[in-house]
Amino acid sequence: SERKVRVNLGDRSYDILIGPGLIAATGREIGARLKGRRVAVITDENVAPRYLDPMMASLAQSGIEAVSLVLPPGEKTKSFDHLIPVCDAILGARIERNDAVIALGGGVIGDLTGFAAGIVRRGSRFIQVPTSLLAQVDSSVGGKTGINSPHGKNLIGVFHQPDLVLADTDVLDTLSPREFRAGYAEVAKYGLIDKPAFFHWLEQNWQAVFAGGSARIEAIAASCQAKADVVAADERENGLRALLNFGHTFGHALEAATEYDSNRLVHGEGVAIGMVLAHEFSARMNLASPDDARRVEAHLKTVGLPTRMGDIPGGLPPAERLMDAIAQDKKVKGGKLTFILTRGVGQSFVADDVPASEVLNFLKEKHPQ
Ligand code: NAD
Ligand code: ZN
Repeated sequence: SERKVRVNLGDRSYDILIGPGLIAATGREIGARLKGRRVAVITDENVAPRYLDPMMASLAQSGIEAVSLVLPPGEKTKSFDHLIPVCDAILGARIERNDAVIALGGGVIGDLTGFAAGIVRRGSRFIQVPTSLLAQVDSSVGGKTGINSPHGKNLIGVFHQPDLVLADTDVLDTLSPREFRAGYAEVAKYGLIDKPAFFHWLEQNWQAVFAGGSARIEAIAASCQAKADVVAADERENGLRALLNFGHTFGHALEAATEYDSNRLVHGEGVAIGMVLAHEFSARMNLASPDDARRVEAHLKTVGLPTRMGDIPGGLPPAERLMDAIAQDKKVKGGKLTFILTRGVGQSFVADDVPASEVLNFLKEKHPQ
């Protein structure tokens, strides 16, 4: 039942393995691919008690020497403060050319560890072992790494592709239902970008995806394949890769408006609301049918995701403030914005001439207050 997706990037191509029991197979999979016999494992306090020992045991069994570092969980860990101990752990473990750095955790650990691996010795081998659904379908693939700045999210970082991604689908059983749903928003995103048949399949099979087993593996593999295709075509986001940000312009504005407070909104929830807004805005611009917006909203709501700005607890700043956040995310040129819009389910496209005034009017209309 294991699946393999290949990310084709010439001599930097790598495999994504997806299936049960992969943490316990870390030693075998790495041993077969890595020349070196030393690794540094970076993880967080939620993941370590569950999965660090099995990984260390597997590495030891394959004769791989490992040191580990456990960091506090949460978005605040993606900072310079935590980058320092990660770099020190990698250097302290004497990780050299043929050795590797392993990120064991969600997107926070993956982004931070990948950044450290990208800059220590001007680039060290890097293995992603994503443990959240979001990390398995999105952040562990594609090589974007980095940390946050007081000036905004993900503003400091490098492109640094992993050498291998091990997505153990069993570990998702201990993810909170809320985090699982948030990751599911990114799964649905791939359907909405350009795979209408996949979105339809999700509408039929989402319960099986949530339950686990083969439908879950299929959904993760399809998502990784979709991301791998985009990354292979446009590694550094000069064009097509921007489509992966479908729903994210509105979503990021909502994350900023809620001050990245995960009690109120996590990234995937912002994306869910953002994708509904992108459909509604496209309908308002007469590009798509409002029926598609309703269909998308119905599905996301069915799985338990928030779909409206009014679903966010604690209220939102006025539409003008949300618009400021969008302008910061996007750069307004002559009153026009670049936006991912859609002609319907699975028919998204990059529009570079969206009037900022239309977006503001739309936000005022949709605003819960
Ligand atoms: P996260 O890493 O904070 O994980 C979510 C929570 O789940 C954390 O509390 C974590 O400790 C916990 N957790 C993880 N795996 C678990 C498991 N198996 N069992 C129990 N608990 C577990 O957040 P995330 O949603 O995985 O990732 C979000 C981050 O990813 C954001 O910082 C975002 O910017 C980044 N991101 C990066 C990219 C990229 O291309 N690099 C893409 C999308 C998102
Ligand atoms: Zn996202």
